[in-house]
Amino acid sequence: MTAALSARVRQIIESPTLAISTEAKRLRSEGVDVIGFGAGEPDFATPDHIVAAARAASDEPAMHRYSPTAGLPALREAIAAKTARDSGLEVDAGQVTVTNGGKHGLFNVFQTLVDPGDEVLLPAPYWVSYPEQITLAGGTVVPLPTTAADGYRVTVDQLEAARTPATKVLVFVSPSNPTGAVQTPQQIREIGRWAADTGIWVITDEIYEHLVYDGAEFASMPVVAPEVASRCVVVNGVAKTYAMTGWRVGWSIAPAPVAAAINRLQSHVTSHVCNVAQRAALAAVDGPMTQVEAMRDTYDRRRHLVHEAFGGIDDVVCPLPGGAFYVFPDVRARLHRPVSGRRITTSLELCNLLLDEAEVALVPGEGFGAPGHLRLSYALSDEELQKGLTRIVDVLQ
Ligand code: PLP
Repeated sequence: MTAALSARVRQIIESPTLAISTEAKRLRSEGVDVIGFGAGEPDFATPDHIVAAARAASDEPAMHRYSPTAGLPALREAIAAKTARDSGLEVDAGQVTVTNGGKHGLFNVFQTLVDPGDEVLLPAPYWVSYPEQITLAGGTVVPLPTTAADGYRVTVDQLEAARTPATKVLVFVSPSNPTGAVQTPQQIREIGRWAADTGIWVITDEIYEHLVYDGAEFASMPVVAPEVASRCVVVNGVAKTYAMTGWRVGWSIAPAPVAAAINRLQSHVTSHVCNVAQRAALAAVDGPMTQVEAMRDTYDRRRHLVHEAFGGIDDVVCPLPGGAFYVFPDVRARLHRPVSGRRITTSLELCNLLLDEAEVALVPGEGFGAPGHLRLSYALSDEELQKGLTRIVDVLQ
């Protein structure tokens, strides 16, 4: 049967983060008390005013019909206004394409910019879908390892050392999934200038823009390095900021000719995003930020809880992340020694053991290009978080 499958899909694996959260949900439905640290998904309900906007939209006959591929005009305008408000980037609504989540926005962009043979620079640890989407576009992934010691931040020297005549695109994300690392505006400026000088395109993923802590500052690359703007595509979405993962609304903002090509592609693949979800997204990006701030304060508190719990485990290094809602402990020094009487050699085996012994679902670093690490999302209720951390500490201590 495998022979029937295209070479393209045979190259990719299922998203490990979705696979783990699906498995955790399955075990829960069977009555197992699993605590899921796997999904990058806020535990909060979508704010009421957003749900109310969707409810109202579903009563409007116009919302039951096809609408423009690139998104509802009012939403594209609101995204342009929100982008100027939040990151300072002035864009035209015509540059915005509304997509089925940020993930789909990224897929469109890779399909639009990357040809077979093109090299794509990808700082590691990286979010699991980037390499697969690059591969699906025929591109070659060039991972650039970063470490906890350097704050998981990529440098211009590293980028320059990896550059070849085939380098087409740099993927940049700050705050980052899986590490939570936030690059400083100065570092982002240097990277943007380097990209502009070398003629490399940048895809900058701003999905965690509002989740920064301790005075860490979010900076948008085309704002701090305007010289890269003509070769830069911004990807963003409502999922993480507004607790809207299930609504599936994201967007890309690209230079006009690239945006036109993205729209051409999307017109043959998904058409537009569900109108009702778009109207919910409009209420989100146009609406008050009070609940977003309250959610951020809660994540901030939980961030310290997780960091402190891991700080008490010998031979595990867990930097305090400056953004997003993940921690990414390095467990390499804890491998090759028995855990709960079992010999463990990889982070994948450790995650399997933690699921069996402690009933906690974590994602192993392998899928993020960083074997020997674990990713935990702390976007789960305080009670679950405490219970899960106690179980992890009991097994690893
Ligand atoms: N980019 C990053 C770095 C992410 O972590 C995620 C989700 O986990 C996405 C993009 C996509 O989010 P969505 O497709 O839910 O908008």
